[in-house]
Order: sequence, then C-alpha cells, then structure tokens
Amino acid sequence: MITAEGSAQQQLHAQAAAIRDRVFRRSVVVRGVIEIANFCRVNCDYCPMRRDNTRQNTRYVLESDAILSAARAIRDAGVNVVVFQGGEIPQTTRVLLDVLPKVRQLFDDRVEILLGLGVKREAEYRALKERGADTYIVKHETADAVLHRDIRKQDLDVRLNAIRTLLRLGYRVGSGCIVGLPGQALESLADDILLAHSLGVHMCSASPFVPTADTPIAGAARGSVSRTLNMIATMRIVNPAWLIPTVSALEQQSAGGQGAGLRAGANVITVNFTPPDKRRDYLIYGGRRHIVGTEHVRRQLNMAGLVAGGSAWVGGAAG
Ligand code: SF4
Repeated sequence: MITAEGSAQQQLHAQAAAIRDRVFRRSVVVRGVIEIANFCRVNCDYCPMRRDNTRQNTRYVLESDAILSAARAIRDAGVNVVVFQGGEIPQTTRVLLDVLPKVRQLFDDRVEILLGLGVKREAEYRALKERGADTYIVKHETADAVLHRDIRKQDLDVRLNAIRTLLRLGYRVGSGCIVGLPGQALESLADDILLAHSLGVHMCSASPFVPTADTPIAGAARGSVSRTLNMIATMRIVNPAWLIPTVSALEQQSAGGQGAGLRAGANVITVNFTPPDKRRDYLIYGGRRHIVGTEHVRRQLNMAGLVAGGSAWVGGAAG
C-alpha cells in the first residue's frame, strides 16, 4: 500500500476516504495553532530550530498577553481546538501553567487544548493537565531505532516513554512520523504505523521530509509527497478512528497537497494563528513554509466535498 501508484493508488485513497467518511461523517476537525516558542534543546538533524542552529534563529517565547489575543482570534474564527506548539524547552511549561485556565475561560470551557511541546517531566505533564490541557502530540518521528538515534541524537525510547506516560495520565495522545528521511527503509515506514497502533494513540500524522537550510542534511533529497499520501491512506485503513492531519508540509511541497491529503483519508487541518510578527521567526522548514489561513482551509474542504467540524472530544462526542 505504501508504494502504490497509478490506479492502485487511486483505489487505495478512495478506500481510505470512504472509511473516513463512514466514521466521521464527512466532517474534518479544524484546529488553530499558536507557535509559542521557536527554539529547542534537542538537536534533530532535519530541524532548523535545533539546538546548534543559532545563526538564523531570533529566539522568542510568547508571553501570556500575546497567547490570549491569538486564542481569542481562534475562538472568533469558530474553531474550538487550540494547539500550542513549540520547541522542547522547559520555559513553555511556566507560560502555559499561567495561561491555560484563562484560555479555557475565553471559550467558556468548551475547548480542546492540545499541546505539542516535546518531552517533559511527568510532573509537568500532570500539572499542565490539571490546568486544562486535554491532548498532547509527541511524534516518534521514525520507528527505526538506529536511524532515530543517528538523526535525532536521542534514543527512540525517550519519545515512546513520553507517549506511554501521557496515555497513563489520561491525555488523548498523538504520534507521527516523517516520510523520506535519508537512510529510511520502506519496511520502517510500515513499522511507523504498526508502532503507533500498538502504543494505542488516538492520532497519528505522516509528513514528508523537507530538507531545510542551516541543517546538517540540507542537501538530502526531499521526501515523496505521493508516498506520504499513501501513508495517510494506510493509517486510515489500519486505524479507522484515528485523527490524521493533512499537514502544511504537503502543501509546501506540492500545490494542492493538503487537498490530496484529505482525498487520501485525512480528517484534520490546522489554521495558523501565530502572531504575524513571529511567524517568520518560527523556522520550521526554514521559514519557507506554507502558512495555512482560514480561506485556504475553506477552499480545500469545499473541493474535497467535506465540512468543517470541531473537536472530536469537546461536548461529550465519542472518540
Ligand atoms: S524537530 Fe522538534 S525536538 Fe527536534 S530540534 Fe526541532 S523542535 Fe526540537
């Protein structure tokens, strides 16, 4: 399935989209993301926010006021999933412990707060949950333990243990992988799906590898969009109830890529609400990324015949 092309690929995507439509009734979860910090203590070879990349990185951590005003914009856009994303640094815990209850208040408590802030101590995960966090994404990135250590300078188990801890604490948890990393075997992509499945996560993503300036692997070949779409479709077939995003990197690598993700069975799309003066400093994909706006999302959903929906979990919805 992961290598499907031509009519076999069309069939695969159609089958996955039909499963998505049956389980989620053609409704796609729309999230709003606020990128709260743009630097990191980890040193992943593919990421321009890595520890060693100080050359291009104008560091920021958003303060409470900026976060609240972005959260207000998300609410006013009718979106009820607020994503806080940033590099893996301890400072984000302090900021969010202060601001999360205020964000919940803004939404009269009818909101899902999703964090994507990397590995933290169990006590921090616990405190953030007590202050209002519901869901957490910490991607395993690649299930190949040797490649993982080589490219992320960290053992795969660090992330797997974080996922297990978050699940034990009662978070709904997302994982995800990068498709097309240098040295990544085809079989390990299958392992990526099986690993996430065996962990019992609720959400999983696949993103194409984007070689980026000022990283040690800037000269490597980019990941295949086609194969990433096949990963999305295969994930949907293996786990019909997963939330699976169509990521902005698909659009950046290929115009219409996010629409193709929806047609391959994805059911989540994220609008960027980072304060405009900070978006350029958030160096994911080297600042050349596709910034997803509400109009783009509306067009993608219309073209795919899908409708915008809210959190899968707010208001007693099943999942
Ligand atoms: S990919 Fe994530 S963990 Fe790795 S350096 Fe970038 S922000 Fe840090």
